[in-house]
Amino acid sequence: MTLPRQRIEAFPTVFGRSLLAEVPNFVAPPYLVVTMADLWPALGRHFPPETPVHFVETMERAALEGMLDRLDGIASVVGLGGGQAIDCAKYFAWRRNLRLHQFPTSLSVDAMYGQRAGVRENGIVRYVGWARPETVYWDLDILDAAPKQINRAGIGDVFCFFTGVWDWQFARDAGRCEAKWPYDDGLAAESLARAEAALAGQEAIRDLTPEGVALVVEAFKWGGASYHGAGWCPRHIEGVEHFVFYALEAATGRKFLHGQAVCLGIVAGAMMHDRRVDELTRAIHRIGVDMRPATLGITWKDVEETLRGLARFVREQDLPYGIAHEFEVGRAFLDALRDRIEEGADHG
Ligand SMILES: [Zn+2]
Repeated sequence: MTLPRQRIEAFPTVFGRSLLAEVPNFVAPPYLVVTMADLWPALGRHFPPETPVHFVETMERAALEGMLDRLDGIASVVGLGGGQAIDCAKYFAWRRNLRLHQFPTSLSVDAMYGQRAGVRENGIVRYVGWARPETVYWDLDILDAAPKQINRAGIGDVFCFFTGVWDWQFARDAGRCEAKWPYDDGLAAESLARAEAALAGQEAIRDLTPEGVALVVEAFKWGGASYHGAGWCPRHIEGVEHFVFYALEAATGRKFLHGQAVCLGIVAGAMMHDRRVDELTRAIHRIGVDMRPATLGITWKDVEETLRGLARFVREQDLPYGIAHEFEVGRAFLDALRDRIEEGADHG
């Protein structure tokens, strides 16, 4: 049985240029800018001197709680950055009930469209909180200035709809869907339609044309809005590919460019499902996302040990049932994965 659904609406979204320069004219002061230290030299000039700034260095929840005193007297929060700055801004806005304005600086991850913040509890990702931005502002001047490989990595949070839905179908066929998340054809179909559109538009995404950007943003809006809109159901938007990412992060203690690690998980997940492996691997390489462990700052040994331990990890973490729970990762699988990832990784 599927559940009744309401129309799923994403946060208000504005595309434009020179948007950041308008912040002092419309964000209720005093406001705190939550950003990354490496972005500030280029973007700080848009703000008056003495603007309070928080540079994100950790997303550990206990550490964030320890910083809440810094928000005394602050009226608004401006999130300015990729996933971590956006999520940290959400967390602060949530904990102090502040107005939030989000300025993503890249397409690297879909965090700007979710109410909850991705924090870490002892290194494990948890999505907590409730923050709705007044608007998500896509300042195209900023987006154009971001390294292309970071923007292209956003495809990970789009193609994950394929492996996410396949995991849900795997659970359905095994009679193992969670009672609270019965398989829903409508949700699955909407996710797949957005992923197929991005697959068909892979060259526009590689080139980051306005059409390519729109394909990724539309998918992000769906991912964020439908997680909440489907009653906090993540089944149609993520699965084994994100579990690989979570497991890699937990095993190595490293922070990755989200989309690179998720894309590695997409190829591994597609291989486990034995569905559309060549097509997805080619598309990710063509778009220009480098999935090689070396570019993630880890080794193949890290990847192999993580994948061999994946079934245990998803059970320990009580993650939704899917292919990762059952698939036996052996030598042949690991060799084939390595060949696929390394061979196609020529991005010129
Ligand atoms: Zn993601």
